Amino acid sequence: MLARAALGRLACSRFDQPYVVPIHFSFDAEKDCIYAFSTVGQKVQWMRDNPKVCLEVEEIDDRNSWTTVVVFGRYEEIHQSSGESEARERAEQLFAARPGWWLPAAAKVPGHERPDVVVCRIRIDRLTGRRTARRD
Ligand SMILES: Cc1cc2nc3c(=O)[nH]c(=O)nc-3n(C[C@H](O)[C@H](O)[C@H](O)COP(=O)(O)OP(=O)(O)OC[C@H]3O[C@@H](n4cnc5c(N)ncnc54)[C@H](O)[C@@H]3O)c2cc1C
Repeated sequence: MLARAALGRLACSRFDQPYVVPIHFSFDAEKDCIYAFSTVGQKVQWMRDNPKVCLEVEEIDDRNSWTTVVVFGRYEEIHQSSGESEARERAEQLFAARPGWWLPAAAKVPGHERPDVVVCRIRIDRLTGRRTARRD
């Protein structure tokens, strides 16, 4: 399901205050991690302070038929100059499979310069989730 999904809700927290935003992502089954592309704003500042995050993803067919996955993991940034070229390449390959999805996140807000962006990874510590019982 993580491989099929492209959109999740990323939750982070700081000083006992949760914060959740929708975000696009790509799952890397081989490396057991999730890559995302993020503007540098509140969520990135909070995750730099506290890298423990959750990502919730769901598939909803109808109100009786749905699946959720919750990823518990650690946020890390993948910088171009940090000896992480392999991870960066891997992330970019996966992003390229869904061309253009990241453009709205990087769009210029009127009255502001184009925001700084980071490529980041969530290393998966554990997964949980629920699925409704289906009657075929
Ligand atoms: C379907 C979907 C997909 C998305 N995919 C991504 C993605 O892949 N990557 C990504 O980074 N984001 C994505 N977003 C946007 C994301 O959900 C956040 O809204 C965005 O990234 C900003 O988060 P931030 O924590 O950096 O907020 P910030 O921009 O830091 O904002 C923090 C606070 O400042 C306020 N604020 C900021 N700018 C303004 C303004 N111009 N006017 C008034 N108040 C303002 C906000 O209300 C907020 O309370 C997606 C959103 C949707 C709906």
